Amino acid sequence: MRNLLLVRYGEIYLKGLNRPYFLRTLVSRVRQAVADLGGKVWLHDARIFVSGCEDMDECVRRVCRVFGVHSVCPAIEMEKDDFDAVLEQAARMMSGLEGTFKVEARRSDKHFFLDSPSINAKVGEYVLDHTDGRLRVDVKKPDHVLSVEVRDHVYMYVRVIMAVGGMPVGTGGKAALLLSGGIDSPVAGYMIAKRGVELIAVHYYSFPYTGPQARQKVLDLASILSGYCCGIKVFVVPFTEIQMEIHAKCPDEYTTLIMRRYMMRIAERIARKEGAQALVTGESIGQVASQTLEALTVTDSVVDMPVFRPLIGFDKIDIIHEAEKIGTYETSCLPYEDCCTVFTPRHPATKPKMEKILEGEEKLDSERLMEAAVNAAEVLTL
Ligand code: ATP
Ligand code: MG
Repeated sequence: MRNLLLVRYGEIYLKGLNRPYFLRTLVSRVRQAVADLGGKVWLHDARIFVSGCEDMDECVRRVCRVFGVHSVCPAIEMEKDDFDAVLEQAARMMSGLEGTFKVEARRSDKHFFLDSPSINAKVGEYVLDHTDGRLRVDVKKPDHVLSVEVRDHVYMYVRVIMAVGGMPVGTGGKAALLLSGGIDSPVAGYMIAKRGVELIAVHYYSFPYTGPQARQKVLDLASILSGYCCGIKVFVVPFTEIQMEIHAKCPDEYTTLIMRRYMMRIAERIARKEGAQALVTGESIGQVASQTLEALTVTDSVVDMPVFRPLIGFDKIDIIHEAEKIGTYETSCLPYEDCCTVFTPRHPATKPKMEKILEGEEKLDSERLMEAAVNAAEVLTL
């Protein structure tokens, strides 16, 4: 008999022939998540098991954050040939609980001497007889469910902890997240990574207008994201020279949009070098002047790869709730300025004219500026 975690996966169930590929990836993600806790991870019979973690609570927390995991059940593993011991353990697990319960048996070992309804009946009866009378059976809407899974061993659990869901990172390709120090872009990155997409992050850094604390804040955000994504490569791209050039040579009301276009172009270059197939931003329609439909069209038109904006229809308040849930909100709220706020024009164009933008951009030595920025990028792996 021993304690372990029984890990259930979600949407991977829907996969057909390539389910083994998704499962293998999920197992290796779980393994990575608990590696330094000394946990052993294996797949058996449609379940993932984790045993041997010294700190079980931390182990649960980590596994619950692995994309692709639906729920985590702290379970007891027992030998199949001693059903009396199973009954006694069932009673121990239910004692102290009150209200209603049911037993839910699953028997994937069809040679086991009892079928599922018989397991339900025998375990249920034993629990009723051997707990202190505060439990009643309700098979329709019970307060507690005692699960009994008969596989290579018998696994029993009462507690089911919901995990993040999604798909294992790496099964959905790779994308470059434009990561600012704000509230939105970390949430956008989380949402895309949750669908199995590996992320790299690109941050534009305007030293000395934004200081080392602003840079550290972004690295901290990337580090929180990395807890979900099993690592993230961050490119900190020096952006001051481009911003100064834009500021000096382009019409004031267009500086933000032109800056956004350079951000997209540079991110695309880095994405291509890194084998990423799409860009991700934290934009949402109408949130600021550079996020009107017209402005987004102008920003999109400089790149030749899909741009994902998972927050496009979200209200700010909903984004904040998500940020709180995933643990990035507090860091995002630290008061260090981002490059966008340093150079904000007083009256940014909300209905931009393309000729004006192109006219401004022609005055810049774009190729040299972008190459210099990409080459000088600082690359960190978190
Ligand atoms: P956020 O809260 O993510 O900063 P925002 O509402 O402040 O978003 P903008 O400043 O207009 O919006 O930026 C829109 C998007 O552009 C961001 O969500 C992010 O994806 C990207 N972005 C903005 N600033 C930077 C930066 N310094 N480095 C990398 N990407 C950036
Ligand atoms: Mg911002």
